[in-house]
Amino acid sequence: MKFCPKCDSRLAAADSKLRCSKCGYETANDAGAKPKEKKDAAPSTFKVLDASDVKSCQSTIKKDCEKCGNDEVVWWMLQTRSADEPTTQFYRCTKCSYTWRDYS
Ligand SMILES: [Zn+2]
Ligand SMILES: [Zn+2]
Repeated sequence: MKFCPKCDSRLAAADSKLRCSKCGYETANDAGAKPKEKKDAAPSTFKVLDASDVKSCQSTIKKDCEKCGNDEVVWWMLQTRSADEPTTQFYRCTKCSYTWRDYS
């Protein structure tokens, strides 16, 4: 319910407008004219990937696998959270997929 700002009379709905029958004041009838907007929709949740979990680089080097004796491994590094901690280096044998880590 809206009232005329000029004379405080009740505004009557006329088409898409609200009209004061007393002084002729008109205003847009926004109540009910527009479709109701969803306000309480659940906020979209994003799973934020920790940057430290992303493989920064991955390449093949010559290194002995202690499991099968293969001399080619894939290696990558993981960035640690704090600068004090050493970078964790991972190796994976290209032959038997044995994976181990190395703190350098
Ligand atoms: Zn009025
Ligand atoms: Zn191996």
